[in-house]
Amino acid sequence: MSDLLIRNARLLEPAAGFDEPGDLLIRDGRIAALESPGGFTGLEVQDTIDAAGMVLAPGLIDVHVHLREPGQTYKETIATGTRAAAAGGFTTVVAMPNTVPVNDSVESLEWMLAPERGAQVHLLAMPAATLGSMGETLSEYEALAKAGAVGFTDDGKPVLEDHVMRAALVAAARLGLPISQHAEDTRLTGGCSMNAGVVAFRLGLRGMTVEAESKIVERDIQLLREIEKADKLRPHLHVQHVSTAKALIAIREAKRQGLHVTCEAAPHHFTLTEAAIEGYNTNAKMNPPLRAEHDRMAVIEALLDGTVDCIATDHAPHAAHEKEVEFERAPNGITGLETALGLASRVLHREHGLPLARILALMSAQPAALLKLKDRGTLRPGSHADLVLFSPDWEWTFTAAQSLSKSKNTPFDQAQMLGRIHATISEGRIVYRD
Ligand SMILES: [Zn+2]
Repeated sequence: MSDLLIRNARLLEPAAGFDEPGDLLIRDGRIAALESPGGFTGLEVQDTIDAAGMVLAPGLIDVHVHLREPGQTYKETIATGTRAAAAGGFTTVVAMPNTVPVNDSVESLEWMLAPERGAQVHLLAMPAATLGSMGETLSEYEALAKAGAVGFTDDGKPVLEDHVMRAALVAAARLGLPISQHAEDTRLTGGCSMNAGVVAFRLGLRGMTVEAESKIVERDIQLLREIEKADKLRPHLHVQHVSTAKALIAIREAKRQGLHVTCEAAPHHFTLTEAAIEGYNTNAKMNPPLRAEHDRMAVIEALLDGTVDCIATDHAPHAAHEKEVEFERAPNGITGLETALGLASRVLHREHGLPLARILALMSAQPAALLKLKDRGTLRPGSHADLVLFSPDWEWTFTAAQSLSKSKNTPFDQAQMLGRIHATISEGRIVYRD
């Protein structure tokens, strides 16, 4: 007896470039087999989904989410955040360590990943690169790696000091793991709450320059060069939420030189500009900030030409009372799990011609490769049955109040989305169905 048969789908396997109608059979949480339509005959199955007109693709993988547990469960919990992830088509998410307390120990990592937390999809975590994310002393990389760490980051803050970042890259390289860098020279951004430019000038807000991002990216790339030469190691730098043309130029050049640099882009940075802040909209406040149109277009260009490795949401829930304050006092961040595929399809596919298979690669196969996940981000038989089923041409309107996240802080309330998710399957279990 098999668990689930999905019939008449458009099977889209981004890594192999496979895009054909077919049926997919799930057994014991794994993809058992693929057949052409009607190819499975005489099977006894518990459940069948007729997926005519829908795309069946590997479940989406988000390398950058904030689930707020432990410590800030009024914003989100691991259970609610991963429920929102499932609604957005995600079957693997990577939790950032800026919880309370900071996830910088084996004990806290194991607590976070324990089944008792109720994660609805596959949960991974990047613990802090430095103790307390204070930027001084490295956390215990080897022990954390053994306990399941998929990389290290002080996200929310950069690893600022040269010698600390160098030591972090070396220690992580010995374990084959990336350092995920929040690229912001905080010496240049004190008191800033948005992008530097005419909008900030008009609103009377202090702005962050693009150099605050690009300088850290350039410094980190220089460290990669030095370490490769001096230590005979191959460190992996992952640049989080790249938002500027300047940083992308540095990343593109570093890749051309063969250094191990990867980067992610967030849907808000390729969809919106600093203009969204007009009226002091705190739901458009995040870090890195929304930039000028020129930078937005540079992010899109880098998604089109392959400089960007993955789309990551930086899902950052905050309670309404925290955002309903003066702009400069409001916390950074917006929710993003339920709007990522809809925005990527609308902006990158429809408006800029990026093929759907490439979008899915940026959201499943490539983040799987980045995290060295075996048997995820693919439809290959034997892989985990992590799947998303959606209508790619279905237009709909996102309503923040209906979000499954505990928080509703999004600039995309009532925004147009392209591509409607019907079901998300995690390890053979239906974890979302509309
Ligand atoms: Zn960040």
